[in-house]
Amino acid sequence: MRSVQSRKLFREAKKYLVGGVNSPVRAYNAVGGSPIFIAKGKGPRIYDVDNNSYLDLVMSWGALLLGHAHPAVLKAVNEAAKNGSSFGAPTAAETELARMISCAVPSIEKIRLVNSGTEAAMSAVRLARGFTGKDKIVKFAGCYHGHCDSLLVKAGSGATTFGRPDSLGVPRSSSRDTIVLAYNDIDSLSRLIKSQHKKIACVIIEPVAANMGVILPKIGFLVGLRELTRKYNIVLIFDEVICGFRFVFGTAGNLFGITPDLTCLGKIIGGGLPLAAYGGRKEIMDKLSPLGGVYQAGTLSGNPLAVAGGIATLKELARKDYSRLNQTVAQMCQEMEDILRMKKLKFSINRAGSIFTLFFTDKKVYDYAGARTSDTGRFARFFRAMLDQGINLAPSQFEGNFVSFAHRKSDLELLLEAFAENIR
Ligand code: PLP
Repeated sequence: MRSVQSRKLFREAKKYLVGGVNSPVRAYNAVGGSPIFIAKGKGPRIYDVDNNSYLDLVMSWGALLLGHAHPAVLKAVNEAAKNGSSFGAPTAAETELARMISCAVPSIEKIRLVNSGTEAAMSAVRLARGFTGKDKIVKFAGCYHGHCDSLLVKAGSGATTFGRPDSLGVPRSSSRDTIVLAYNDIDSLSRLIKSQHKKIACVIIEPVAANMGVILPKIGFLVGLRELTRKYNIVLIFDEVICGFRFVFGTAGNLFGITPDLTCLGKIIGGGLPLAAYGGRKEIMDKLSPLGGVYQAGTLSGNPLAVAGGIATLKELARKDYSRLNQTVAQMCQEMEDILRMKKLKFSINRAGSIFTLFFTDKKVYDYAGARTSDTGRFARFFRAMLDQGINLAPSQFEGNFVSFAHRKSDLELLLEAFAENIR
């Protein structure tokens, strides 16, 4: 651990903040040691309070596809701040961001801006229930949709990292209507929908799962899901809080040619500021207050600074070569696999676009049960060795690592060198 100041700050933080952090995974419980305290970020790098520099693969958990402190994003946010930080009243920029998202994602005919992915997913589920008049919802084990009660069941991300995929404090009455299935298991889904469709309001899914490590949908799984939900009048919600604008300038729905009824977005569309959204079919969205009877509101929703950051980010991303980035990361993962083969290590790497997870298991990982076969102790040792060498990986086996447009070839070569040295 290179950062002396970080250790001191963590001790102090623990006196006042629960576990010293404001979001559990940051505490490093899963990997041991003390988290680094960040002073600043620039491009693909972060700097701790001792001014140690790290190549960052967390990138604010995927929010910073353009890299840290992107000049165009900073400029837009600074300009917006000069006019005030919040009004609780409409601004033209909110419509501009909504128009940009709708143009990129045609299935989003109408949209509502909110502050976090949790809010987006929670509200989309409420809307689906209000629209259909049904109560039950279906999610998939290991998918994470934020921390609202009904979705915090067999959840991935921090919930899995901390070994509590089902949180204390979630009343049975909230989780009773949540049905959990295995990701990529179309037969179970089909059986369930055929028998219970009269009670099921929606199916919510990460079209590419990224909260139990990265897991790709099997061919036909999403198509089958769409066909079943359409046939039985069940709202299909794609939670693209991670996927949205990550693989293409649009959504995974666009990429796979599948049109969900509702889509949740977050992270990238706020450019690192607190902004998220949900949107989709007009007839469903118009059930929202003030037009319809489904209530959802927010003091800071469509916040001018966050919206300015979002618009600037999307303008920049519209000009970027996504396929080149995805190809570069594919090549890097290929080289990692070559190194694993040379060392006779049978770990598996899953990649989707510019996100990847190295699973410390010899199983090919298709679902939550597969991800859970990973050797988390071995992962933790690898994580610490990489951090000591200045590489900041996601501090949990059950997360993705995010490469951004700011990572250059030389950065990825550095990552590969450290990988070759520390993987065992
Ligand atoms: N949905 C997905 C797919 C996520 O990955 C996350 C967070 O990582 C959320 C929802 C919750 O978003 P937030 O942390 O902004 O509440």
